[in-house]
Amino acid sequence: MNNAFAWVFLAALAAATATRLWLAARQMRHVRAHRGAVPATFAATIPLAAHQKAADYTVAKVKLGMLDAALDAAVLLILTLGGLVQWLALQWDRLLPAQPIWHGAALIVSVFVLQSAIGLPLTLVRIFGVEQRFGFNRMTLKLFVVDMLKGIALGAALGIPLLLAVLWLMLGAGDWWWLWVWVVLVGFSLFMQLIIPTFIMPWFNKFSPLQDPRLVERVEKLLARCGFRSAGLYVMDGSKRSAHGNAFFAGFGASKRIVLFDTLVERLEPTEVEAVLAHELGHYKLNHIKKRLAVSFASSLAGLALLGLLVGQPWFYQGLGVQMQTLPVALLLFMLASSTFGFFLSPLASLFSRKHEFEADAYATQHAQAADLVEALVKLYKDNAATLTPDPLHSAFYDSHPPAAMRIARLRST
Ligand SMILES: [Zn+2]
Repeated sequence: MNNAFAWVFLAALAAATATRLWLAARQMRHVRAHRGAVPATFAATIPLAAHQKAADYTVAKVKLGMLDAALDAAVLLILTLGGLVQWLALQWDRLLPAQPIWHGAALIVSVFVLQSAIGLPLTLVRIFGVEQRFGFNRMTLKLFVVDMLKGIALGAALGIPLLLAVLWLMLGAGDWWWLWVWVVLVGFSLFMQLIIPTFIMPWFNKFSPLQDPRLVERVEKLLARCGFRSAGLYVMDGSKRSAHGNAFFAGFGASKRIVLFDTLVERLEPTEVEAVLAHELGHYKLNHIKKRLAVSFASSLAGLALLGLLVGQPWFYQGLGVQMQTLPVALLLFMLASSTFGFFLSPLASLFSRKHEFEADAYATQHAQAADLVEALVKLYKDNAATLTPDPLHSAFYDSHPPAAMRIARLRST
């Protein structure tokens, strides 16, 4: 291997995988070491048995994550330096000669299908092994298969036209193709924001208007206090798949709706649901959703501009084990390699997200009772078997939400 970039890629892949495994080992050690006693902040509210279940659940998930990290690295190596992408590109070239768009689409889709198929056993173990064992899974094998088929149909109906449009621009729009591709991606993602709540989610779940009159009244008062108008208050049958509870906002502008999981409505008192919603409203009112979209658009623009430079560099293809130098091949290699190089940016994304969580909590305490939010969070930590004692470094790297103790402490100090 006399290509310097191949060594850079190998080093990055080794570093990313070693970091994932090391953080996982730290998390397991830390959670196990604190399994014996409930932390002081929660001693009065969370029983020891629930704390220990959370520890065991966390360890089981981390073990699965370690397998996933090892598998990811192996698959990526086989695809790139192992020569599988090169081999697939040659096979498609025999079937589809002189049709660069279809050749590119077939190559990218086949790699994607291969990766999904390899990841399938781990997904099955996660749902029907781990989630099942800890009493969270409500999904039958039949529902899993139906979901998967719907997912494939959606992926094909939306993803393939998008891929064809991108490849068409790459191959035909001149030197500035990457800018046009970015415009298409931004448009597509805004379009998805519109159709996800209105067409896609109702295909997977049932949404019914919130019934409980006490709760409706509370929520409507909260919305009025916050100056928020929505297209409706819905309860979603999340219990069909999982016992984990959640609440969220979906959609934009006049079509935005508030969705509560049925599991959340069942478990929380109306005052607590109000506090959770006030937190979610905080995300909305403080423009967190728009900011997140803006960051993702900016990073895809930077990524595409970089890809625009890389497509003309033979070392980029050769360093990732491919001799065939076409723009679609470059796109595929870029997507494969960016998971490795992008890994090192994940702490930054997590930091950004935790900052938003604190801000949304602060907003919630202004428009609802901080004590209610504390009650709700403690119930959710307990019901979801979320660990109260994460390893600080693991948490800093991955967690989108602040550690439980820190979050509660801050809420109690307001
Ligand atoms: Zn939040």
